[in-house]
Amino acid sequence: MVGRHRRSSIGLLPRIASAAALAALVLGGAAGPTAAADFPPSDSLYHNYAEMVTDINAVAAAHPDIVEVHSIGKSYQGRDIWIAKISDNVATDEPEPEILIDALHHAREHLTLEQALYTLHLLADNYGTDPTVTSLVNSREVWIIFDVNPDGAEYDLTCLHSAKPPYCAWRKNRQPNAGTSYVGTDINRNYGYHWGCCSGSSTKPSSLTYRGRAAWSTPEARVVRDFVNSRVVGGIQQIRAHITLHTNGELVLWPYGYTTANVPRDMSVVDHNTFVAMGRKTASLNGYTAEQSSDLYVTDGDEIDWMYGVHRIFSFTWELYPTEKPTVWGDHYPADERIAPQTARNRNALLYVINVGGCPYRAIGQTKALCGPFYDDLEISRGWQVNPDRTDTATRGAWSRGIPAGTSSGGHAMQLARTASGTKDLSTGRPAGAGPNAYDLDGTTTIRSVPIQLPAAPGPLSFLYYFAHTNSSSADSFRAYIEAGGVRTQIYRELGTHVLDPARWARVTRPLTAWAGQSVQIVFTASDLGHDNLIEAAVDDVRIERP
Ligand SMILES: [Zn+2]
Repeated sequence: MVGRHRRSSIGLLPRIASAAALAALVLGGAAGPTAAADFPPSDSLYHNYAEMVTDINAVAAAHPDIVEVHSIGKSYQGRDIWIAKISDNVATDEPEPEILIDALHHAREHLTLEQALYTLHLLADNYGTDPTVTSLVNSREVWIIFDVNPDGAEYDLTCLHSAKPPYCAWRKNRQPNAGTSYVGTDINRNYGYHWGCCSGSSTKPSSLTYRGRAAWSTPEARVVRDFVNSRVVGGIQQIRAHITLHTNGELVLWPYGYTTANVPRDMSVVDHNTFVAMGRKTASLNGYTAEQSSDLYVTDGDEIDWMYGVHRIFSFTWELYPTEKPTVWGDHYPADERIAPQTARNRNALLYVINVGGCPYRAIGQTKALCGPFYDDLEISRGWQVNPDRTDTATRGAWSRGIPAGTSSGGHAMQLARTASGTKDLSTGRPAGAGPNAYDLDGTTTIRSVPIQLPAAPGPLSFLYYFAHTNSSSADSFRAYIEAGGVRTQIYRELGTHVLDPARWARVTRPLTAWAGQSVQIVFTASDLGHDNLIEAAVDDVRIERP
């Protein structure tokens, strides 16, 4: 059997690998995992798939209290896609911020697997001796997906006839494409956010950047998606920062790739500033160049766009060593002597991202406002529940999260199209295309946040709101409550009046010391209980701050 050979017979490996490759070609190459392939003796410090599995299992066995290894799914050919979790009390899902690192979307980018293994060893082997590493492992949950594309990476080691044997210069996965002999999809053009939107990928199966027949058509992208989706716990995405490792160019890239706009509608200014600050700081630590992903070239359906666009994860592509070379061989196949210096080069940059990834807004000095136990700019779903008591009477205009419309009454603003941050807020109804009052509130509507654990010394609750009304009375109101242990306590209210009050964002800040150490939920209600009046309420930028 060709597979599972050991390194001691190193001189014979290229021929054996070649035989496996020829067999795979004759058989169509897609029936299942083919025999293990290997690097040539001159590059033997690189890890093939089997060697990677051996290494990560050895680390987990040596550090069982802080390292766990799991398969999170299978590649097209059935290889396990392995993840390690590194944290204190590793078997417990503690309420600690999570950081995700992944590698080897692109088969020929073997240095990325070495960087992932380096990161595992950095955290595991220095735990208990290096104070910085120890503190990060104790206060974070770090996930590493070592090899997103194991089929492609193994296949890449099977081309003895190539210009630089045994490498195939392969990039995509090994999924066949119906109606053509061209194999493979570019996994990093297959993610389902603006997939195929913008000429940043190819429709041709022959292309290196073939995007697939549909978003998520590759099992490998689905495995990453399902894992990241599974980290939404209690309505909140636990992963705050992410690095996907690629070669090459010595670059730190932030989203978006699909557009050259710096701050498109699906990114807030605050988040863009945070990306720039984090990216530049990272680059200052590893000597790379930081820029927006689309500054390199436009890509669509890539991983970091999805991570941020859907989950608001501060997600970066790192293009590792070397800088641009004139050939694919120079770009993606550095000699194995480069592994140690070029992975160690990223030590401080990795520790920085794992550290600031606890709350990326620290990078722009917004720790007090935005790094407390809760911050919601309402740009993505974070678990708010409408009508939680099933007692709401609103027949229309119930709270909803989305892009508001600009509406007015007699020239006075009622629902503001402009939100406090980004493009979405909570407001009482959306235009339904059924007349000017189709989004007017009638009755009472209630919305409640997910449970939030307050620390022993909590900072205040702070939110932006407006309560716009015409022909109103004190029967109408906007109210905010804190709910804890089944008791709902009003902390703010505005009642209606007969004086017209147009929409205008205002910030409310209220102390939460009465609920120190408790699990609380934030509740907003808006009521239109009078007649012949027009009521619009909205909420944005809800925070529980640091003291
Ligand atoms: Zn790549």
